[in-house]
Amino acid sequence: MAIDIVRAENLEHALELLARDGAQARPLAGGTDLMLRLRAGRLAARTLVSIADLSDLAYVREQADRVELGALTRVADLITHPVYSREFPAGARAARDFASPQIRNRGTLGGNVGNASPAADNVPPLITFGATVTLQSKRGGRSMPIEDFFEGPGRTRAAPDEMIVGFQVPKRPGAFQFFAKFGSRNANVISIASAALCLRLDGETVREARVAYGCCAPVPLRARRVESYLSGQRLDERLIAGVREAVLGDIKPIDDVRGSRRYKELLVINATEDALRGALESVRKAA
Ligand SMILES: Cc1cc2nc3c(=O)[nH]c(=O)nc-3n(C[C@H](O)[C@H](O)[C@H](O)COP(=O)(O)OP(=O)(O)OC[C@H]3O[C@@H](n4cnc5c(N)ncnc54)[C@H](O)[C@@H]3O)c2cc1C
Repeated sequence: MAIDIVRAENLEHALELLARDGAQARPLAGGTDLMLRLRAGRLAARTLVSIADLSDLAYVREQADRVELGALTRVADLITHPVYSREFPAGARAARDFASPQIRNRGTLGGNVGNASPAADNVPPLITFGATVTLQSKRGGRSMPIEDFFEGPGRTRAAPDEMIVGFQVPKRPGAFQFFAKFGSRNANVISIASAALCLRLDGETVREARVAYGCCAPVPLRARRVESYLSGQRLDERLIAGVREAVLGDIKPIDDVRGSRRYKELLVINATEDALRGALESVRKAA
């Protein structure tokens, strides 16, 4: 089947093309996921709407209480941008652990989220920061928490005529942030599993816990059992020792080519325990 690639001149043009071709059209950003699917014959689309020229959607903007990220922000820019790396060190870490310099220079944040892989590395930290995704179509705009955006592997709640235009990320001043990714080697691999935590601490008490895992469910997963297990509790060795049961209650990893279910369970349990020990250490150092 022949596929048309149309270059959108601006956002309005892109939205018109998506509205015109509906379920037959897909936005094409950096192409690092899409072109692989196209070559493998796994793309059910007749029109690719190239949004690569929409430079207005490539930004990191600081507001008093949040940071706004454009959909076309390249993964490489998340590592080096002074505001993102200052406010969200765990997000910058996820961007640094992502793929290779070539892929980071082409791949966009909107593409990483729009691809809806349970292994998308930027997503677990964004879930823990409370980020929302903003969608736009000719019919108007809407936003939703990023953890609600995914329906299953490769499936999102965006309608065929909608595209992601950006993200709002609330600042988390003073919060302890953590991200760890596990792969078969240190660079240029898709995660076997990943873990992100963002903890608001008051002395050694966890006031608020936000926790998310990659590759542990059909979608990037917000770990609500772990969050409620930790929230309001004193952070000590007893709490850390008990977290594994809460993690196992949240996650449902599968055996696949990258790792067994059991291996993924151990990775995220260990990462969660390490994060909590790191948080305790940082509180005690600061006291
Ligand atoms: C060698 C290699 C290594 C990789 N390593 C990693 C890794 O370590 N971690 C990781 O998470 N990913 C990795 N990836 C996957 C990929 O690079 C990322 O998901 C990347 O962020 C995709 O961005 P893109 O701009 O290239 O998206 P595209 O390929 O252009 O698009 C991907 C999907 O998102 C949709 N899309 C794009 N932009 C929008 C938008 N604005 N609104 C709605 N939908 C949109 C497209 O229609 C398509 O379905 C790797 C890929 C390769 C080839």
